[in-house]
Amino acid sequence: MSGDFLALAQPGVQQLSPYVPGKPVDELARELDIDPARIVKLASNENPLGASPKALAAIREALAELTRYPDGNGFALKTLLAEQCRVELNQVTLGNGSNDILELVARAYLAPGLNAVFSEHAFAVYPIVTQAIGADARVIPARDWGHDLPAMLAAIDANTRVVFIANPNNPTGTWFSAEALDEFLQDVPASVLVVLDEAYIEYAEGSDLPDGLDFLAAYPNLLVSRTFSKAYGLAALRVGYGLSTAVVADVLNRVRQPFNVNSLALAAACAALQDDEYLAESRRLNEAGMQQLEAGFRELGLGWIPSRGNFICVDLGRSAAPIFQGLLREGVIVRPVANYGMPNHLRITVGLPAENSRFLEALSKVLTRG
Ligand SMILES: *Cc1c(COP(=O)(O)O)cnc(C)c1O
Repeated sequence: MSGDFLALAQPGVQQLSPYVPGKPVDELARELDIDPARIVKLASNENPLGASPKALAAIREALAELTRYPDGNGFALKTLLAEQCRVELNQVTLGNGSNDILELVARAYLAPGLNAVFSEHAFAVYPIVTQAIGADARVIPARDWGHDLPAMLAAIDANTRVVFIANPNNPTGTWFSAEALDEFLQDVPASVLVVLDEAYIEYAEGSDLPDGLDFLAAYPNLLVSRTFSKAYGLAALRVGYGLSTAVVADVLNRVRQPFNVNSLALAAACAALQDDEYLAESRRLNEAGMQQLEAGFRELGLGWIPSRGNFICVDLGRSAAPIFQGLLREGVIVRPVANYGMPNHLRITVGLPAENSRFLEALSKVLTRG
């Protein structure tokens, strides 16, 4: 007799569904039997610009040392980040993507019997890292698609160790103000770690979104996580970071894999961080593309959730699944969000102007076809 290795998995893991990534371009190209170059992918909040030429040059240079282990302490990148983020070197934790930071937090601070609080329609990785540890996920109903911070506060109990909040949130694009964040941080018990996920914060510069870094000094229970996957255009390399007190960073460092960020990622992230031009162009392109998509939705009579990220959820007013399928047949990949409790929405990543047009034309066609 063989063991039932699903039933033998710890209960939290049995209840998990695997993360569903955006459909890869090559996969759809095979299915439709067309050239991958004809496919538009607006499904994973990737930067449509392509990586910064400076990052690419840094990678080429780093190739010469591929036989060596990477700098396990990420000294060069941490130095740059500490400078730019106005913190000390020992407050920076590097991750294999910022997902890695979220997982380090869960592994260090959660356990069976403890819980993490986060919102409905929030990032799919929060339940994964929480339940993988055997801790309880406390999912708080959203308000107008965004985080209901007072309700999240009320849900914190003696067993809560972590609260995950995202600003802006993915997939909804919703955000909260500096005042709302400050009020929340004031009231969260000092023994609960607040993880403020700012994966898209670079897109929100100059807007009414707070800069999480402004709150680090006042709140020792705050960790801000950020990434090079979105505005910095390095999603494939997997590099992100956390900023916290030195104590929290020390704890995370104890559970971190020794070489969690590879040399090419370290080199590219250093270069990207210093490429202001690339970041400015990413922002400009995103703002223009967001307007283009909103104008297109307006023309089609569709509603949407206002977003501060590089993506937007359009409301189709009925099941989005057949429309997603129709778009695939047109060679356009977007992201269904039914698994986030949003069956009538599709999430569209802001692309290049021509990609946005292709998507809007395909959407119009699929909608008219019925
Ligand atoms: C994309 C995203 C991340 C970043 O993931 P990486 O592991 O850094 O690629 C983190 N949080 C949210 C909410 C995201 O959407």
